[in-house]
Amino acid sequence: MSGAGPHPLVERARRLAADVLVPDAERIDQEGVPASHLDAVRRSGLLGLHAPEAYGGAAAPAAVARETAEILAGACCSTWFVQTQHHTPVTTLAAADRPVRERLLRPLAGGTLLAGVAYSYLRAFPRVVVRATQERGGWRFDGRVPWYTGWGLNDVFMLGALTEAGEVLFGFAEARAQPGLRPSAPLRLAALAASRTVALDLDGLWLPEDAVALRVPYEEWAAADRARTANTSPAVFGVARAALGVLAESGDPQAARTARALGARLERVRSAAYALTDDPATHERVEERLAVKTDAYAVLSAATTAAVVAGGGRAMGLDNRAQRLAREGLFLQVQGQTADVRAAQLAALAPPS
Ligand SMILES: Cc1cc2nc3c(=O)[nH]c(=O)nc-3n(C[C@H](O)[C@H](O)[C@H](O)COP(=O)(O)OP(=O)(O)OC[C@H]3O[C@@H](n4cnc5c(N)ncnc54)[C@H](O)[C@@H]3O)c2cc1C
Repeated sequence: MSGAGPHPLVERARRLAADVLVPDAERIDQEGVPASHLDAVRRSGLLGLHAPEAYGGAAAPAAVARETAEILAGACCSTWFVQTQHHTPVTTLAAADRPVRERLLRPLAGGTLLAGVAYSYLRAFPRVVVRATQERGGWRFDGRVPWYTGWGLNDVFMLGALTEAGEVLFGFAEARAQPGLRPSAPLRLAALAASRTVALDLDGLWLPEDAVALRVPYEEWAAADRARTANTSPAVFGVARAALGVLAESGDPQAARTARALGARLERVRSAAYALTDDPATHERVEERLAVKTDAYAVLSAATTAAVVAGGGRAMGLDNRAQRLAREGLFLQVQGQTADVRAAQLAALAPPS
C-alpha cells in the first residue's frame, strides 16, 4: 500500500458496509443474517483475503485484513461474525500439504464455498468435548459442539476433535444435517442472535482420511492458539468506532467531547495492539498482549455505554443503534475467550483496593 490509495479489498469492504450492511443492520439484528448478505460478501472477493494467490486468493497484508474486519464488524457485527469463521479454514488449508487443500482451497478463496468452524471447545483440554476415533479407513466424530455459527448459510465446516493419542485433528465436513450430525434449533441469544448459531450433536459422523487438514499434538496447536487469542480482535475497534460515531452525531456537546477523548484513547490502544500483533515473536510478550487486549475491551465498553447514555430512554428500543452496538460489544467481550483472557479481563475490572 503506497500512495496509490486504499487496497481494493478495503474499498470493497467500505462499499459493502455503506451499501448493504449499515442501512439494514438493526433489522438484520432482529431478523437474522440473510443469505443475500453473504452473497454480497462472496462477490466482494473478501473471502479470499487470506488465501494464496496460487489458489485465486488475494494474500492480502495483515493490515488490510484488519482494516476490512474493522469496517465489516462496525457495520453489522452479525454478518462480520458469520463471514469471519471462513478465514481459519482458509489459513489452515493453505498450510496443509494434503489432498483436501486441492479440493477445497480454490472454491473457498473464490467464494463459491463459504466455511464455518467448530473448535473453540478444544481450549477446555483436558476435558474432551468432541472425540475423533479411527474407523473404516477414516475418522468418526462423537460429542456435542456447543456453538456453531452460520448454520444454513455456510456450505462446509472445519470440525476440530481430540484423538485418543492426544492430538488435535481438523476435518472438513458438509454443513448440513446428515447421519451422525444433528443441529439444534437456533440458540436464543442476547446478542448476535442473527448469526444463526446452533449446537451440533455428533454421533458417529464419519469423514474419510482425505478430508483431514491437520493432525498435530495438542500442545503444538494450543501454543499457537494461545498466542493468537492473546491478541486483540480488530472487531473490537470496529464496534467501538461505530459507537463513537453515534455519540459524536447525537448533537449533545458533552457527548461530542466524550467521543473525541475516547477516540484518541482508541487510536493509542489500537496502535499498541497492532504493533504487538505484527511482532514476529508471536509466542512472546503474552502479558503485554493481554494487558492491551483488556484496555481495548475497556474502550469498547466505555464507547458503547456512552452511546447508550447519550441516547437516553430511546436507546432501549430494539431498533436503536446504540443498544445494538452495546450488545455486540458484550458478545465481543467473550468471543474466543480462553482461561488466560478471562483472568486478565476480570483482574482489570477489579477496582483498585
Ligand atoms: C454467539 C456465539 C457464537 C459462537 N460461534 C462459534 C463457532 O461458530 N465456532 C466455535 O468454535 N465457537 C463458537 N463460539 C464459541 C466462543 O468462541 C466461546 O464463547 C469462547 O471460546 C468461550 O468458550 P465457552 O464459553 O464455550 O467456554 P467456557 O466453558 O466458559 O470456557 C472458557 C475458557 O475456559 C477454559 N476452560 C473451560 N473449561 C475448562 C476445563 N474443564 N479445563 C480446562 N480449561 C477449561 C478454556 O480456556 C475455555 O476456552 C461462539 C460463541 C458465541 C457466544
